[in-house]
Amino acid sequence: MIQTQLYIDGQWQSPIDHGTRAIHNPADEAVIAQAAEATRADARLAIAAARKAFDGPWRQTTIRDRAKLLNKLAGLIDRDAEQLARLESLNTGKTLTESRTDMGDIAATFRYFAGLVASESGAVNEAPHHVISRTLREPVGVCGLITPWNYPLLQAAWKIAPALGAGNTVVIKPSNLTPLTTHHFTQLVAELDLPPGVFNLVTGGAEVGAELAESLDVDLVSFTGGAFAGESIMKAATGNFKRIGLELGGKNPNIVFADADLDAAVDYALNAAFFHAGQVCSAGSRLMVEDSIYDEFVSRLAERLPRIVIGNGFHAETRMGPVQSAQQHEKILGMVQAGIAEGARLVHGGKRPAGDVFKKGFWLEPTLLADVTADMKIAKEEIFGPVITAERFRGEAEALRAANDTPYGLAAAVWTRDLDKANRMSRALRFGTVWVNDYHPYFPEAPWGGYKASGIGRELARIGLDEYTELKHSYINLAPKAMGWFGA
Ligand code: NAD
Repeated sequence: MIQTQLYIDGQWQSPIDHGTRAIHNPADEAVIAQAAEATRADARLAIAAARKAFDGPWRQTTIRDRAKLLNKLAGLIDRDAEQLARLESLNTGKTLTESRTDMGDIAATFRYFAGLVASESGAVNEAPHHVISRTLREPVGVCGLITPWNYPLLQAAWKIAPALGAGNTVVIKPSNLTPLTTHHFTQLVAELDLPPGVFNLVTGGAEVGAELAESLDVDLVSFTGGAFAGESIMKAATGNFKRIGLELGGKNPNIVFADADLDAAVDYALNAAFFHAGQVCSAGSRLMVEDSIYDEFVSRLAERLPRIVIGNGFHAETRMGPVQSAQQHEKILGMVQAGIAEGARLVHGGKRPAGDVFKKGFWLEPTLLADVTADMKIAKEEIFGPVITAERFRGEAEALRAANDTPYGLAAAVWTRDLDKANRMSRALRFGTVWVNDYHPYFPEAPWGGYKASGIGRELARIGLDEYTELKHSYINLAPKAMGWFGA
């Protein structure tokens, strides 16, 4: 049985009140670990350690030291990639293939930020000859990083790599449902010779996250999760006007025009909605299909859905695992029922799959609800499970109006062979990412984040590093002379 601890000020330790939480395998509900469950008091110790480290020697590190650190971490992730992938699948239920891909992406994220950090140089500004004017990037300070349960280590990497690379100190709080890979990553950090307090792990629930958001000793909080918690973090951050980054939920339209390559569009409609059983912030669960091909599209999906292999993520043939928790399972089934009650037509799924192996665990069939209209709850709210809702639209203007009519703005996709239309739609859709004739690709070089209620700020890309820096104007007058403005 795995037992996890907190990592504070360079020491592995139990929570002050010795709290633990059982961690479950979503495939069979078996207990796979006992994780340390911290309280606010532990979070305060971690924040104090991070504060001391930031105000101490860590400030003197060079960009070369920090780039080297990120590259070393990438190497250690590569070394333990298989073990990390197995832990991620065990804890989240996702297929091992997906977890292996995540680990490759995580190492790539560390290497990308290592390269960016190494290329940092600041700028010398044009100024009078007796003045040196420079624009400098400096670390923000102590960063509180709060991550969700769907991509535990990937979301953590998007925050940890730029935070450490920019010279900050870190307190990370993974979701208390999925702490295992972040705990293993912390073991990798502990192999390195970092000053105590630079990196701290506090596993626990919302109150630990709230402490990070409220603390006057935390300078930046970066959060990935739902809108409800995001709102309370934003309010809590006003105590010291700390910097915030919020990566929140989405209601992401996948828009298929009649002139699209239908084979590809049908295939990708499945990928958009059912990767990681739909528990992806950018999942394309809101399928919108042009009227003239709508019936054919829905029947082609209906044909494919029963053939999706549901099963344990460790089996090679599995394409979709369980959802992560009992709470999520119940919530998704509730959304499906709400859709049916509002008049949507259940074409496939909407229930636990048949068979003994699916009796325990949080299993759901891939689900298709057709004849959904834009005013239904299931077309408006994030489902975060293996559900496609199919809406019909007539023409570009209607598609655009309906797609943008959401408080969210994370990601959208458009399927068409008409390049003009693709360009018009990409520009007019109010989403942080717009894919054309594809779904889901992301990479460290491109920014990630949402418009509107999908968040504040961006992760990855150059801006993903800049978010963890303060910009300073340094002005040095080499030949000061009295001005005499107020007399001699
Ligand atoms: P959640 O909001 O319940 O929890 C996220 C994290 O915040 C957890 O670590 C949790 O313990 C902590 N937390 C909860 N309440 C808090 C509070 N009041 N103060 C501080 N911390 C608090 O979200 P979740 O259920 O773990 O994740 C699912 C959500 O995350 C979905 O809405 C999904 O769309 C979103 N998400 C967004 C992105 C993105 O890049 N935009 C990526 C992944 C997930």
